[in-house]
Amino acid sequence: MLFGILLFTLGLIFGSFITAFTWRYPRGISIAKGRSMCPVCRHKISWYDNIPLLSFIILGGRCRSCKKPISVRYPLIELSVGFGFIFIFFNFYPDYLTMIYYLITYCILVCIFVIDLENQVIPDFFVFLGIAIWFLYSIITGSQAIFSNLLAGFVCSIFLLIIYLVTRGRGMGLGDVKFALLGGVTAGLGLAVPWLLLAFLTGGLTGSILILVRKAKLKSKIAFGPFLVLALLIVLLWSEKINTILGLLL
Ligand SMILES: [Zn+2]
Repeated sequence: MLFGILLFTLGLIFGSFITAFTWRYPRGISIAKGRSMCPVCRHKISWYDNIPLLSFIILGGRCRSCKKPISVRYPLIELSVGFGFIFIFFNFYPDYLTMIYYLITYCILVCIFVIDLENQVIPDFFVFLGIAIWFLYSIITGSQAIFSNLLAGFVCSIFLLIIYLVTRGRGMGLGDVKFALLGGVTAGLGLAVPWLLLAFLTGGLTGSILILVRKAKLKSKIAFGPFLVLALLIVLLWSEKINTILGLLL
């Protein structure tokens, strides 16, 4: 129990860092550059108002200086990293190497999810970082699947590239095509199809619902990256169950 709380706290701290990083990165602001400030009144945020989750609750979700609401992205991202850390720990314990690999990959995927959702762009930096981490992990563990995983990456990427060309970039962007390389190598041949299937199903369903309730016009762009990320996380963390289901169906 104590360990769970420690892990959750660690996740909150990483989540807090990711919250700041995903806000600054698309704006070209260095993460090393000074303390965070309120985007409304530009008041520098003191350390005691910058404690993950707790500060948001204590401040009642409002800036201490100007009383304007603080974006819910802060507690939401912090919580999702906190719970993600606990889930990954119990999923992979006691395989510490795999656990660390998934913890890092999870953080990268959360960054991609948030940045694409908010800015409709997937920066190459996160995709290549993710591929580098996967490659390092595969080398260290002497993975037998390294070539089949690379193949999966290329096939997924080419598949999305074809859709990108056919739809002339209306369905997805080149960022999604590049992300498919990371998704493919991470998922591997066995999970690549369930991954893309789930992403298209959830993405298509959400898009249709948004159009139905007229939140989005047919032309307006809904980023596809968040669906690719969510579907990837689901197939990765529930791979055994998904394989069992597929085995029963096929
Ligand atoms: Zn303020």
